[in-house]
Amino acid sequence: MTASHDSGKSTRWDDWRNRLRRARLVLAATAILFAGLWLAGMLGAVPALVAVACVVAVAAVLAASGGEDGRGAVSSGQLPVARVGEPLIEAVLAGLPDPVVALNRNGDVVALNARASAIAPALRRGEPVSLGMRVPEVLDAMRRARASGTTQRVEFFERVPVDRWYEAIVTPIAAAEPSGLVLMAFHDLTPLRRVEEMRADFVANASHELRTPLASLSGFIETLQGPARDDAAARERFLKIMQAQATRMARLIDDLLSLSRIELNAHLRPEKQVDLVAIIRQVADGLQTLARDRGVDVKLAMPASPLLVLGDRDELIRVLENLVENALKYGASGKGIEVSLTAGDAANGAREARVAVRDYGPGIAPEHLPRLTERFYRVDVSESRAQGGTGLGLALVKHILNRHGGRLTIESVLGQGATFTAHLPLALPSAPKE
Ligand code: ADP
Repeated sequence: MTASHDSGKSTRWDDWRNRLRRARLVLAATAILFAGLWLAGMLGAVPALVAVACVVAVAAVLAASGGEDGRGAVSSGQLPVARVGEPLIEAVLAGLPDPVVALNRNGDVVALNARASAIAPALRRGEPVSLGMRVPEVLDAMRRARASGTTQRVEFFERVPVDRWYEAIVTPIAAAEPSGLVLMAFHDLTPLRRVEEMRADFVANASHELRTPLASLSGFIETLQGPARDDAAARERFLKIMQAQATRMARLIDDLLSLSRIELNAHLRPEKQVDLVAIIRQVADGLQTLARDRGVDVKLAMPASPLLVLGDRDELIRVLENLVENALKYGASGKGIEVSLTAGDAANGAREARVAVRDYGPGIAPEHLPRLTERFYRVDVSESRAQGGTGLGLALVKHILNRHGGRLTIESVLGQGATFTAHLPLALPSAPKE
């Protein structure tokens, strides 16, 4: 007890001495001034001494009051630091939507919110940030921010526990001086990066898909101009292949344009009532030639009366065309396909229409099922190309159904065919007619 009291006293006395030492120039100047006035005979020795004593006394009183008020402010070369667990700082950080860590001038964690603990579980209040976050870019940014007094931004990548990209924004809080408070906020850039990667992959895939038939077309043109110039039979054969390639390119461009158009309207739900019975009948009629070519019988099982959904007629035709065409292309020839339309209860309790397209082809292995609606994903690329496929059909189906508030489900057992079902919410009777 006594020891600590004594040390408190001596610290205060040291403080006084320090302040008086800093005021020594003023005191010396005052002494010289009054000495000069006394020597010049303008002031008596006693008034001069009294004046100097007064100035010293005022300086001493100011030093004492400065010592009281200035506690926690800059003193004796030791800068104050923000307190660990400061309730106001904790409360402010808890209200922020991003992970944020508050640090003092020594780089110790003063406060952090739950989101920051989630991304850096090793961070502890009162411990250096470098112990809990071993990211050199971030620690560098912190040093630069403290040295320059300006905000620093850095991006970094974390592999554990899963790949994630972050941006750290380190801001020294000037208004909190002299406590040396620095805020470190984190933005999760992962979703943005994933979209950028997907876009880059998409462009690469699309150009590759276009380049392949284009290269084959150029090859055939050269052959027809050169070695096969006078070969009528070869010319016939090549022209047929060239036509198929040109058709595939046109389809690909058409699918790409449709995809971007549907994405643009993704947030707009169609509001007109359309009859699914009429749409299915129209699609089945349109694909009759293809079905006949493949020797496949298309069976329809539909209610006698119209079944209404809120939809865009052309887009729903596209969905049905893609599903029935796939069943014709990939289902076994000689065996039939079935298209059925039923109404039922959706998982959310609302009523929904279900259009199921069933084929008896080779089916699809379970590992492919979750990826079938990705753009350009095919189980067998050469088979898809040989069938004139673009790899975008099911991606289009998924996007169109999403825009309609519906979804696509796929069931398949290897060797026993596949069933693709489009689920669409039924229209309420009050909706406007098409
Ligand atoms: P594609 O233009 O290749 O047909 P889709 O997006 O329509 O593109 O289909 C993606 C892939 O899904 C196809 O390449 C094929 O491998 C597989 N697939 C689609 N429908 C069926 C089906 N009925 N039976 C077996 N596989 C199918």
